[in-house]
Amino acid sequence: MKKIYLDYAATTPVDKDVLKEMLPYFSEKFGNASSIHSFGQTAQQAIDQARAQAAKFFGATPNEIIFTSGATESNNLAIKGVVKSYYTKFKTKPHIVTSAFEHHCVLDTCKALEKENLAEITFVSPDKDGVIQVADIQKAIKKNTILISIMYVNNEIGTVQPIAEIGKMVKMINNGERKETDFQLQFHTDATQAVNYFDCNVNKLGVHLLSMSAHKIYGPKGNGILYIKKGTPIKKIQDGGDQEYKLRAGTQNVPGIVGLGKALELVMLNAKRENVKIKNLRDYFIKKVLQEIPKTKLNGSKVKRSPNNTNFSFEDVEGEGLLLSLDMEGIACSTGSACSSGALSPSHVLLAIGLKPEQAHGSLRMTLGKHTTKQELDITLKKLKVIVERLRQISGNVLSDYYSSK
Ligand code: PMP
Repeated sequence: MKKIYLDYAATTPVDKDVLKEMLPYFSEKFGNASSIHSFGQTAQQAIDQARAQAAKFFGATPNEIIFTSGATESNNLAIKGVVKSYYTKFKTKPHIVTSAFEHHCVLDTCKALEKENLAEITFVSPDKDGVIQVADIQKAIKKNTILISIMYVNNEIGTVQPIAEIGKMVKMINNGERKETDFQLQFHTDATQAVNYFDCNVNKLGVHLLSMSAHKIYGPKGNGILYIKKGTPIKKIQDGGDQEYKLRAGTQNVPGIVGLGKALELVMLNAKRENVKIKNLRDYFIKKVLQEIPKTKLNGSKVKRSPNNTNFSFEDVEGEGLLLSLDMEGIACSTGSACSSGALSPSHVLLAIGLKPEQAHGSLRMTLGKHTTKQELDITLKKLKVIVERLRQISGNVLSDYYSSK
């Protein structure tokens, strides 16, 4: 049985050209980039090249690119690093504006700061289409707001946030045209799910900080970037060596960084063309699923949506059952529930856009990528139809009765 992978938002396979670039840096070119000798210099040159590739991609300068272990680390460094820098000058508690449906690494970073009494946080809710309104961000800004952190594309429902518009508003505030806060605002975006599909030029977006992960763009796992605009007040959060402009201590992962640089170069070269194909396939799939499987709903805006994302709720079906049944048929995707402390809790993203817990439990995310074919989607649709029908027969109305009795 040929397996079908529909979980590209979780991770992507390393592109063969990316792998080819990386391979020498595991063995014959193994130097530590901090070493003065020629082995070290070879590694350093490779990092310099990747940094230049990344700078070109984001419209930044090379010294604004910090290599990290991925978006989780980048998000932690961005948020905690800005707060830490604030405390070197000020004593009062700062305020951060973020959204209720960020990735857990942003949400939990903010919650940790709140718990440690280091920051006040406002979690702005998206609308029912999964889009954050600029006016709601603006309303949330207070006299002590120092940072806004809003994701570019939501990882579960693929909805696209108005980053450039928020950037414009931040610029007006910082130029003194508006007086919402006493501080210069820093604007961070988690662009992890956007890099493949949307313009990530930091000047157009008006961001001071931007995070991403290589493995979402056909690069290696355990590698990422934090873009930091020159002059942004930020302190390192990890002690050790002076690597990455003294902002990220630790020996650099040279093969990974080389792979990340190459992956960004390939996005620049090919993504526009590939994305048209992916979007057409996605639209075809959404149409077919909604047409052929009754009592099914697409979660998140149909228009302001990443070209690769589908997320459906199937009434009277448990997402886990669906996922496991599809997996047995060789089809890989993910659900709208997360396993936390042994129990399945409905996705915070789906709850944030107003779904009831039972709808969130009956949801499935299927994300396409550059290797997805129409034939794969047709097979998936056929199997999905049968599985949903079977699971509905088993559950009957048990689930809705259960929830309505609660
Ligand atoms: N942010 C978003 C939006 C993501 O989708 C992910 C990965 N699922 C992350 C952050 C974290 O990335 P990583 O696990 O590579 O650190």
